[in-house]
Amino acid sequence: MDIDALISQRCRELDTSGIRRIFELGAQLNDPINLSIGQPDFPVPDEIKAAAVDAINANHNGYTLSQGIPQLRKRCAKQLHDELGWPDSIAAPGKTEGGGIGLIITSGTSGALYLMNMALLSPGDEIIIPDPYFVAYPAMAKLAQGRAVRCDTYPDFRMTAERIEPLITERTKAVLLNSPANPTGVVLTREECAQILELCRSKGVLLVSDEIYSEFTFADAAAETPVGLRAPSPASVSGSHEDILLIRGFGKSFGCTGWRMGFAAGPEALIREMTKLQQYSYVCAPAPLQYGCMSAYDVDITELVDTYRARRDMVLGELGKVTEVFEPGGAFYCFVKVPEKLGMTSQEFFERALERNVLLIPGNAFSSKDTHFRISMAVAEDKLKRGVAILAELLGG
Ligand code: PMP
Repeated sequence: MDIDALISQRCRELDTSGIRRIFELGAQLNDPINLSIGQPDFPVPDEIKAAAVDAINANHNGYTLSQGIPQLRKRCAKQLHDELGWPDSIAAPGKTEGGGIGLIITSGTSGALYLMNMALLSPGDEIIIPDPYFVAYPAMAKLAQGRAVRCDTYPDFRMTAERIEPLITERTKAVLLNSPANPTGVVLTREECAQILELCRSKGVLLVSDEIYSEFTFADAAAETPVGLRAPSPASVSGSHEDILLIRGFGKSFGCTGWRMGFAAGPEALIREMTKLQQYSYVCAPAPLQYGCMSAYDVDITELVDTYRARRDMVLGELGKVTEVFEPGGAFYCFVKVPEKLGMTSQEFFERALERNVLLIPGNAFSSKDTHFRISMAVAEDKLKRGVAILAELLGG
């Protein structure tokens, strides 16, 4: 049978993510210095592991409600209340009068992003995303038959109201913000966040805030909140729960990316639609791992984040001597410019690094431009140092 002929147009139009291809390449190399990794290099904290194992042994292995177990939804809502001043209560489906929020536990942050795109976009509708962007943003909009409109944020990588405003059209449904950002590590200020929310409110467009790296914000870029240091969020503006879809995850903060755990919170009417879509797709997030994540908020990862800050300082110190490196305020990536004097695209530089057994991700995987590359700091320190020394040599020409 000609299986290729049976494949949908939707699939044909979608390319495999450039990052996946590099993962596959990495698997074929002999002990590469792999700086392409997008997950933390520490194990899941013991108490979180124990809670998941206990849940399996206590037979919490069946379906849960589509929107997730009530205990975890309440715990997430409490965190948003304590940190951002959002209402403490979760609205019952179809009931917004009490002023509560909608909240759904999703299969990773990706699950929340996918449901959001499917719930908001009709064919031809637009969602404004930063450029550079997390690789899945344009693909997910396309799967929903919408269009991701790229907001060029070079050279400082700040997605500002000023840069967003000219891109808003009558087809715009949402603006997607990501701070701390992948791949640049940029952390927006409180003022920048508030201005973007104000713009979205004035245009009747939803603000979607992908805050998967919220807890991974370095002390020098973070804001003090009642629950500790976090990236400034547009969701801390009063009344924002009515105009923002907040998306967060557990994978990056607690080293459990493979558990596929995240959540989305915001207007109940939107969460209700996302829940309907979840019923017909993911069904629910993994049941025992929902119990596991109940204890995540009791774990303090400040020390781990400080370790990554020290790595960042090392990388900036070394690569800053030979090229422009944007100083990341959070997440675990550095976005590095290929110096113009080398006359190379990031793809060409990627190949040069590969000859030296160093794997990185060329910027064109995340951007319409091909001038930078991403390295990850989620790598054992000695390996990171060796990789950075090779890159410094190559970048220096
Ligand atoms: N958003 C951003 C900005 C990311 O970098 C990632 C993962 N690299 C995701 C969402 C998806 O994360 P998850 O594993 O929770 O689906």
